[in-house]
This record gives sequence, structure tokens and C-alpha cells, in this order.
Amino acid sequence: MGRSDDSLDAPEPNHYAQKTSEDHQQTLSDIVKLTRRRRLVQRFANRFRSSHSDKDDQLAKKLAVEGGVGEGRLQAEAEQPKQDEAILAPLTGMVVGAQGSRVVEDRGQNEPKRSRQSDALAASPADTTLDVPWGEAVKAGGQAASRQPTQDETTDPPIGKVLEVPDHFLCDLRDVLEKCQFSLESPSELTEELEGKLALYSGEKVKEYDVLRQQGTRHEGSLGFEYACTKKASKTEIAANEVLQHLKKNDIARFYNKRDTERIGYGGQKHKRFYGDHFLSNVDLIERTQLFALCRTMPKGAHLHIHFNANLVPSFLLSIARDQERMFIWSDIPLLQAEAFDLCRIQFSIMNEAAVEANGRGNPFDARYEKGQVMQFRHFLRAYPGEEEAALDWLQKKLVFQEEEAHDLLQTQTGAWEKFNSRTQMMKGLFNYETAYRKYTRQCLEEFAAENIQYAEIRPNFMSSNQVWKDDGSYRIDNVGIMHLIIEEYEAFQNGENGQRGHNRDVVKGLKVIYCTPRSFSEKQVGDALIQCFQFKMDKRFSKYIAGFDLVGEEGEGKPLNFFRKQFLEFQALCKAANTEIPFLFHCGETLDIGTDTDGNLMDALLLGAKRIGHGFALPRHPYVMAKMKQHNVCVEVCPISNEILGLTPRISGHSAYSLLANNVPCTISTDNGTLFRSRLSHDFYQIMAGKSDMTLHGLRQLAEWSIEHSCMEPDLMQEVREAWEERWDEFCNQIVGGEFTIRDDAGDMAAEADFGVYKPPIGPPGL
Ligand SMILES: [Zn+2]
Repeated sequence: MGRSDDSLDAPEPNHYAQKTSEDHQQTLSDIVKLTRRRRLVQRFANRFRSSHSDKDDQLAKKLAVEGGVGEGRLQAEAEQPKQDEAILAPLTGMVVGAQGSRVVEDRGQNEPKRSRQSDALAASPADTTLDVPWGEAVKAGGQAASRQPTQDETTDPPIGKVLEVPDHFLCDLRDVLEKCQFSLESPSELTEELEGKLALYSGEKVKEYDVLRQQGTRHEGSLGFEYACTKKASKTEIAANEVLQHLKKNDIARFYNKRDTERIGYGGQKHKRFYGDHFLSNVDLIERTQLFALCRTMPKGAHLHIHFNANLVPSFLLSIARDQERMFIWSDIPLLQAEAFDLCRIQFSIMNEAAVEANGRGNPFDARYEKGQVMQFRHFLRAYPGEEEAALDWLQKKLVFQEEEAHDLLQTQTGAWEKFNSRTQMMKGLFNYETAYRKYTRQCLEEFAAENIQYAEIRPNFMSSNQVWKDDGSYRIDNVGIMHLIIEEYEAFQNGENGQRGHNRDVVKGLKVIYCTPRSFSEKQVGDALIQCFQFKMDKRFSKYIAGFDLVGEEGEGKPLNFFRKQFLEFQALCKAANTEIPFLFHCGETLDIGTDTDGNLMDALLLGAKRIGHGFALPRHPYVMAKMKQHNVCVEVCPISNEILGLTPRISGHSAYSLLANNVPCTISTDNGTLFRSRLSHDFYQIMAGKSDMTLHGLRQLAEWSIEHSCMEPDLMQEVREAWEERWDEFCNQIVGGEFTIRDDAGDMAAEADFGVYKPPIGPPGL
């Protein structure tokens, strides 16, 4: 049995004597500092708890200066006396000190021979004085996640020692056991002695257990995605994280834990609102929170998974469509009864006269209406019961998911997708003509800037028979024309047009297109699409705008990637021969299927060398593929709200992204189809935080950093974007620390729960 196993053999004073003189001096020094600091902390904490006044603030500040520590730490330490016991143990003779010391020795020769706590205590006043506004720092104190990790957390702690029992104690115990006469009928006479021995043992052993448990938890954390950024966090970032954690607590108290917002469920059961509930339940609350304002301002790096036809609020497209002479609308059933307005499938299209004649004219509000007959949209708005305003309101609601549709008792993934597909069909006609396409592209770029996005890769659909029309319906614009539209609008956005000032790459520094075509297509069609994508990449004008290739559409309904492997392999050979790179950025693993062709897409994405994968929800169920993808630095484009609404997880905390993140698999956060989900990228960042109660600012940083690193930018552009993002990130952290997202009452404190209802978001609602 090893030296460190015999904890109960060594009387505590002996153990203390065994420490090196250097350790001894260090420990004594720590104890002196600690004792003084604990007195200060205690005085402060007592005052703070009994009556918090300006006078107390002054006292606390004075104490903080005297103690050489930041105010936030004072409060934190007042709440964490247990950690201090590790330092005091040698004086009080507690075995935890002995255990703590042995753990220190177990760290290896290169590790500092001081405990974690003494590291913290030995830090200079400058290290511990955080640049946090007074109120926030004090109230935010005690956030374990905000401290910087220490080196020893990467060492696997000897957790097996917990169950090892020292030989001498076992002998002792056996002696007692032998004297016991166990009987089911009567308790043993010597039970008391046995219980006494065991209590003595566990009294000491539990302390070792607690130390190892803490070390095990921290070691596991060091394997996860937040570790690297936590380790390198600046003082401002640590302070900003503390403020963020407090804003979260404050939001929860003010918006979610309110009794009067309870909802009535099955059998009259009352359900309290909660942070992390369905996005569609909470979206109205979310937009009022301090944390959402923070998410909205956060520099997000690169946005890498956006379906280009579904990224803006529906009212935007409807408002353009309203003014179009040749915009027509039709339904699959007459709109006569109330239910018909829910059940009907609505479509739009720009149509020339020949197309109108071919479909036939009709009035959906007339009993004689036949499926597919078309009506001019302007006339439809006037004919709608309640007229234009009511009609637009109904159409907007019809375009976005409602909570009941996504989370109804009987709803399934297939059912949610059916709703999704009818909406994308509806959207298609609102988007498929030149004016809308141009205005939409421009507005998307404006939205990227408003969301503080530095770079984006958009996914337009390219089809051999594409559907973008001239406004008069006279002819279709082909895929080349669509590329020209996007590039022209992007350049006008940056450089300005008609005498208007452009954005000059102030926020958005780059844009690329991921060539997407439906997975429902034939081999021939997908083969043709790959060749056109290759041609775009080789074209002088288009080349720098092409990011990669992807197949889109409902994964379970379309063909698996495997079906097109011949075309994909030929495409990659072609790219290699031309000395160019067009990475695959495949949608895959967006499924709950296990063992089907759809589930097999992850393996194909791996074999085909995908640079990133879209969704990858099923990836943790494939340990080999996950390990290989991590090894090959494949990044997962996580779309939290999309996955929640399309039935992959009932609530965000069940999202598989947390398994990926715990395994340090690179991930980015994206919206997918924000229009239909009532979301923007800020909402997705909010929601991914809501599913993990200990998510830190450092974790958010890692997600943003990964988005830049795993984008398809050229090295020069990537470097430029990274630098710009870092500058903005520093500014963002200063804004947090400076209280920019903190709602204050008249006295300057954070707003209390009573202020609920009068709150106005600091940056205004994100509606267009
Ligand atoms: Zn997608």
C-alpha cells in the first residue's frame, strides 16, 4: 500500500511536521493572511447582511482596500468558508489538511507545492482586485466558474483512493467484527463499538472524499470546451463573467420566478415559468431580459449556418410583396370556416399573365373556389375579413411556429417537419423575385451588422430549375444571375450606392455562399449542381464568394449522402486536379433515428472529409465518428432553437450539443431558419446559455472563436476578422463590467423584482 494510503496512521501533528520547511513557511504565511482576511470578511458580511447602506458600502470598500482584495472576492469568501479550512487544518489538527497536502504531493514534481487556496491567497492585491462596479462585484461574488483554473486540474486525480481502507484500520475493524454476534433477531451487544469505529473512520474519510470529488469535478471540467478560454481569461473577462452570472440570477428572479406568470397545465396543475423552458414559451420574456441585451451586443464572430430564404422576420417580405403588381396568392381549400384558416396551405408567386391563365383566377373567400386558383395579392388583402391589417397579421402568424405546434402532446418530429415544409413553401414565393431577393439580401446584411456578426456564410438554394423571377414574371433568373444579385448587393452594402454611405466593412468584414441543392434531387441533378459549384469556384468574379457545398431539405425524407458518393468523389478529384478547395459542409445527424440510412450520414460525412457538419445532433451516439471528427478538427454547426422546435429535444437542456461541448468537440452556434422560429442569432446564444446553468462568458468566447477558426475564410481575411473580433470582444467585456446591460433603480442598484413590468431593454427590441 502506498504512502498516501495510510491517512489514518499518521497523527495530524506528525503530518504537519513532515511538511518541508518551505511548505511550512508558506502555510504559516497563508494562515496569517487568511486569518486577517477572514476577520475582515466576516465583519463585512455581517454588516452587509444586516443592513445594506451607503455607509456599509464605504466600510466594505475600506475593508477591501485594507485586506488587499476585491470586494467581490470578500463576499465570495464570506460564503465559502469551507475552502479556507484546507489552509487552517494544520493548526486545528484536522485530517483534511493532511489529505490536502498529500494531494499536493501527488501532483507531480513540476507542480507548485501549494494548495489551490494558497495560490489564490498569495495573489497580489492587483490580481484580486477586479475592475467591477461595486454593486455588481459584491452581489456577483462567489461564482466558482469565474475563477481561473490552475494547472493541477489537468491532472487526473487518484479517485480510486477513496475506497482504499488503511491496513491498520481494517485489522482493528476485523477484531471488533469477530467479537460481534450478528443475529437477525437481536442486535449485537458490540454494535456501539463498531459504530464508533466506523464513525471515526468516515468522519475523516469523508473529508478526503470531498477533496477528491472536487478535484475530479474540476478535472472533468478541464476536458471540456470552456477550459482553454477560462484559463487564458483576462481580469476584465473574469469580472465580466461575474457580472453576467449575476445578471442571469437577477433575470431569473424578475422574469421567471414570478408567481403571477404561472401557467395552467394538465388538470389545472400550475407550472412556474423557468429559464430554459421552450424557446417559443419564453421568447417574449427573453427579449426583456438583461442577458438577452447582452447577447444581442456580443460580437459573435462568424455565422455559419443560415438558410438564406429564412433569415428575416416575415413582415419584411410581406411588406415588399404587398406592393408587387404581379404577386399572386392561392390556397388548397376555400377560406370559409374558422378552421380553414388554420388548416389551409397558402402559397405565393410572381406570375405573368400566361401563368395566371393556366392556373385560373378565383376568390378563396368564395364557396365556389377551387384548389390552386390564384388571386392578386392586393385584392386578397382587401377581400380578407378585417381587411389588410388583419390579413397581414394572419399571414405573419401562419409563417412562424407557434408553441402548441412544436410541443403539442401528439406532435412528432415528422409532424413538425410537415409544418416546416408548408412554411418554406409559403416563404419561397415571397422571396423568389428580383426586388425581394435584392432587398432581402441587403436587409440580411444590415441584420448581421446589428447582431454584431463579423462574417457570414449563407446557404441559398441553387436548382437546375430555380424560381427567382423578374418582378413582372417575364422570365426566370438563373443560378449565375442569383450569384450576381448577391454579390452586387453585398458590394453595394459595403461601398454604398446612390450617394449613400456604405458600411465599409465596419462590422461585417466578409460574406461567402455555400452552394446548396436539395437532397431530394436525382444523382444527375446533384452531379450537375456539383459541376456548377466547381465552375463558380473557378470563375474570377465568383471564386472568393464560394465557401463550400451542401445538400439541404428534410434529412429523413431525402436521399442519404451515401447515395451520391460517386458524384462527391468525382467532385473532390476535380477540385484537387484544379488545385482548389471546395469543402463539404454537410447537413447530417439532424435526426433521432438510430440505425437508419439517415443515421448513417455522419459516417459518410466523415469519409467524404466534411470540414464542418450542420446540426450533428446524433453525433454523440456515434463514438467512433465523433472521435475521428474531433481528431480531424471537424466543427459542428449547432442550431439550438431549430432542433428544439423541429422535435429533436423537448427542451434545450436535453440538446446533444452539451455532450459535444463536454468532449471539447468544436461547435458553433447558428440560427438555421430564424424566420420560421421567431429567432435571431442572439436568441440562439441566449438559449444555449439557458440549457447549461454553469455556462460562462469564457464558454461563449470559445464558441465565437471556433466560428472564426472553422469558417471558410482565406488566411488573410481570417486574421483580419479575428483581430477585429478581439477588439470588439474587449470592448464588450468592458461594457458588461461598466454596467451597460444592468438595469438600475433610482438609487443606482440593480433593479429589484418589483420593477418587473416597467423594464425597457437597454438597446431596444430587435424587431424590424
Ligand atoms: Zn440547416
